[in-house]
Amino acid sequence: MATNWGSLLQDKQQLEELARQAVDRALAEGVLLRTSQEPTSSEVVSYAPFTLFPSLVPSALLEQAYAVQMDFNLLVDAVSQNAAFLEQTLSSTIKQDDFTARLFDIHKQVLKEGIAQVLRVSPWAGTVSLQFSPQTVFLGLNRSDYMFQRSADGSPALKQIEINTISASFGGLASRTPAVHRHVLSVLSKTKEAGKILSNNPSKGLALGIAKAWELYGSPNALVLLIAQEKERNIFDQRAIENELLARNIHVIRRTFEDISEKGSLDQDRRLFVDGQEIAVVYFRDGYMPRQYSLQNWEARLLLERSHAAKCPDIATQLAGTKKVQQELSRPGMLEMLLPGQPEAVARLRATFAGLYSLDVGEEGDQAIAEALAAPSRFVLKPQREGGGNNLYGEEMVQALKQLKDSEERASYILMEKIEPEPFENCLLRPGSPARVVQCISELGIFGVYVRQEKTLVMNKHVGHLLRTKAIEHADGGVAAGVAVLDNPYPV
Ligand code: ADP
Ligand code: MG
Repeated sequence: MATNWGSLLQDKQQLEELARQAVDRALAEGVLLRTSQEPTSSEVVSYAPFTLFPSLVPSALLEQAYAVQMDFNLLVDAVSQNAAFLEQTLSSTIKQDDFTARLFDIHKQVLKEGIAQVLRVSPWAGTVSLQFSPQTVFLGLNRSDYMFQRSADGSPALKQIEINTISASFGGLASRTPAVHRHVLSVLSKTKEAGKILSNNPSKGLALGIAKAWELYGSPNALVLLIAQEKERNIFDQRAIENELLARNIHVIRRTFEDISEKGSLDQDRRLFVDGQEIAVVYFRDGYMPRQYSLQNWEARLLLERSHAAKCPDIATQLAGTKKVQQELSRPGMLEMLLPGQPEAVARLRATFAGLYSLDVGEEGDQAIAEALAAPSRFVLKPQREGGGNNLYGEEMVQALKQLKDSEERASYILMEKIEPEPFENCLLRPGSPARVVQCISELGIFGVYVRQEKTLVMNKHVGHLLRTKAIEHADGGVAAGVAVLDNPYPV
């Protein structure tokens, strides 16, 4: 893809001046991260890394990504409600992957408890009036990520990398970066171009989803509980959502899993209380990686899951976001089974799927491994992990596949077609590093929000986007992993 910033990227002196202006504007707008030296304090902060210029994205692909987001919301919600599908899909994985297995154990435990109550109460209650009411309000805040695969005829195609169903981040900071890129273009007197930068406000949309779930919970004094990490560099991203909620008179408390295990409790109706305050919605910004769980934290997670509060996500929805589920969804017939009577939605979803291959022990897995070993540059090996930096590429992938080949452990991985976007030039700005013009590729994310009460979907929408751009020398990793930087799509 050509860029129309070409000549601007050659003028080093001008770049440096623009970079100074852009950094100051980013700081003024609140595009902030805590520093890696002081991740628990906001005394010293810096700007989140970003591109000096917005990157070109074909409007048709942006539109397609927005259009398919409500379908992805429906799909995730359908998977989360289909216990049989989750059980079958994850059965081989949980034998090999301890983290997924632990999540799955909680899922089973919560399901069993829910069913047990219905059976116990209904025979003599006449109607199903439960003594303990299970969770009835469900809130999904997700982000579906894509890259633009070059096709043979040169036109790029939208291909999903993954969907994040827990702790999908950067909606807050992405709401503040358009002003920075408009500033840069305005300094260059490119007023028309500045006007093309899309407005974007995911934090508001995410907050509206939380507010809806809070409202449906139906207790005006109840709070939103944000499960936070002790060391959180990305706190300003989270604060953007908290601020939106406070503006609606919905109060948020931030607590760690450790706090919950000490101060959290359920009453006899399984209402959740923390420090004596009732919780309507639990919003997880922690709990998506193995190292975030001590034994104590697993217990806290179980307590939260058993509660009547709306969890974002509940454990089933977190499982719906695993790479193994993504791979199984690409099998012929799966989307049709999960979204019956919705052929248009199925077609829109399937159009975004890249090649995904099971590595379960058996002929199909053997063949996938043989193909990847024959053409390593065309594949990515993925374990059931989130947060960046876990996937294997190239020679590392080859070594891993050779080792895994004859072991049951291979079922904890999936294989994916490697997406190869056309690189372009942009200038990356990072605290402590000189402005760098490099060959880049981008990843587009669309934020989705849905709310369900019992069986009725009361909200289903897209609420904004995130563009992240990284130098091509990095195969893996997002902004938090220190690889990608924040960007804005410049629609062409
Ligand atoms: P995580 O849950 O760790 O974010 P992802 O599946 O999003 O895992 O992969 C992390 C990063 O690796 C992505 O942001 C992207 O840069 C790169 N990546 C993942 N899958 C592919 C793929 N199929 N083709 C090319 N790059 C990929
Ligand atoms: Mg990712």
